[in-house]
Amino acid sequence: MTIARHLATACVRAGGDPEPGTNALVPSVCSATTFAQDLPGRSPTYCYGRTGNPTRARLESALAELEGARFGFAFASGLAAVDALLHTLDSDSHIVASQDLYGGCHRQFTKLWSRYGLRVTFVDATDPALVAAAIEPTTKLLWLETPSNPLLRITPISRLCSIARERGVHSVVDNTFATPILQRPIELGADIVLHSTTKYVSGHCDVLGGALITDDPALAESFKYVQNAVGAVPSPADAALLLRGLRTLHLRVERHCQSAGFIADALSHDPRLPRVVYPGLRSHPGHRVAASQMSAFGGLLTIQLDGGRDAVDRFAKRVRLWTLAESLGGFKSLWCHPATMTHAAVEAEERERIGITEGTIRLSVGLEDARDLTADLLTAIEAASSSCGTTGDHCRANGAVACEVTA
Ligand SMILES: *Cc1c(COP(=O)(O)O)cnc(C)c1O
Repeated sequence: MTIARHLATACVRAGGDPEPGTNALVPSVCSATTFAQDLPGRSPTYCYGRTGNPTRARLESALAELEGARFGFAFASGLAAVDALLHTLDSDSHIVASQDLYGGCHRQFTKLWSRYGLRVTFVDATDPALVAAAIEPTTKLLWLETPSNPLLRITPISRLCSIARERGVHSVVDNTFATPILQRPIELGADIVLHSTTKYVSGHCDVLGGALITDDPALAESFKYVQNAVGAVPSPADAALLLRGLRTLHLRVERHCQSAGFIADALSHDPRLPRVVYPGLRSHPGHRVAASQMSAFGGLLTIQLDGGRDAVDRFAKRVRLWTLAESLGGFKSLWCHPATMTHAAVEAEERERIGITEGTIRLSVGLEDARDLTADLLTAIEAASSSCGTTGDHCRANGAVACEVTA
């Protein structure tokens, strides 16, 4: 029996009972690919490593518990989980998806699964009327991602999931950005939660993983079938690393949120930035919805520099504590340039239309001291907003402090 527990307790304890036989406090990495069977045809708990593995099972039950559901399935990456979910659909299925979606999901929909007859309608899911209007007779899934990447748009989960349910459509929420610490989509009415555990769950930028979680036994059965039939499962060693990440998820996420809020406040009135996007700011159009469905506002923020690519280059040369890199949710602060990185595959016009410009920068706030992170950003923003694009010597000669360090 699972006793209802607060999230911190669940993070520390879920899937972590001492190991039978050894009482080892931390489960061993069970690397066996096959398991001895007593009698033929008796379906033992474990028979083959792709089908099931005790280390992976601990991770899967822990993820399910954290999301308030019964069934969890771990995959080799977030996109492997996306692929598994799409494998459960018939070939003539239609999906309604939030328009600002993780680029890799967009790519799977439009470049891979479209070849097998999948159709996807992308809508601005912040408007429930548009979602309702996009549902067709063959619609099988409503696909939501909130907060979204990189503009941190907020979509009302319970409202949209009930629209989907009334029309017999399953809903899935990509909960990678929020994590179960901040947002619990199943409790808000979603049928399926998807994760890239590569991000906050791992937290240490050293393991790829993904997950599907549901409380619906029929969906669980279909995920289990595909997980085994396609086989994009994580290694037992990766499952153990992810389980270790879970043990501190609540502490890390709490600090990520505090620091992101601190930085957002510090930058929000800066006249050099045309735009600071953080769901915790009152100026954010989704602030009220975010406050109603999240317990805090997450560790990501997006800023816009004035002056396009040149300004971004000046920012890049000056920033010290933020590393230019893909990914997010780790201990170390990262920044990324969506126009050339996560959203490079999106047509420039489409990017501009959804609000991603050459000056847009996404920040994944790490676990360093927020004061240091803020000071470093302010210096880099100063460098970016200085129109001087030449060498440090030239700048010094002209008394422009911001460029000194680029020499
Ligand atoms: C990273 C990410 C994915 C894909 O996960 P991988 O582990 O990189 O395959 C899916 N959704 C979101 C929101 C992500 O950030």
